[in-house]
Amino acid sequence: MTSPFPWYCKRCGCTERYPSGRCKQCIKERDIKYRARNKEKERIRTAEWQKKNREKVRLNTARWRARNPEKANAWDKMNPEKAKARQRAWRAAHPEKGKAWRAANREKENAYVKAWRMRNPEKIAAWVKANPEKTKANRDAYKARNPGLPIYRARKKRTDKYIAQMLSFLDQTMEKMKD
Ligand SMILES: [Zn+2]
Repeated sequence: MTSPFPWYCKRCGCTERYPSGRCKQCIKERDIKYRARNKEKERIRTAEWQKKNREKVRLNTARWRARNPEKANAWDKMNPEKAKARQRAWRAAHPEKGKAWRAANREKENAYVKAWRMRNPEKIAAWVKANPEKTKANRDAYKARNPGLPIYRARKKRTDKYIAQMLSFLDQTMEKMKD
């Protein structure tokens, strides 16, 4: 049966038509759906390409980061977990660079390690408890390096004031060494 008002779209009821006679509203909806479907396809295609070209992606990212340090830092701040994971992965992939950096920045590294230890006594205590042999080996090595020196009984001496002074000293040392 033909509609008594053929200018009404049977599907959506709209009256606006293109000169060809097709319903404007329906075409618009179809285009939106088409674009959404293709966006998803495009997303999958990109993800697959990235999976197959990890090295290229890595290099491109590194290049982008080198060219846009402010943007890269801003991204890191917005994505702290991902940034940390990236740093960890980088360090794991470049152990020699970490070693070289530490060798070239011995003082800074020592200050950093000391500050970390001061801030994480419970982690140190847990590690000592979990690694009695290594602890003994470390202590023996310390004794061998420092004949006659008493073992530093850090925990007994540490007052809050001492810790605060030490941390502020270490932070200042690191600040001065900033490159
Ligand atoms: Zn329509």
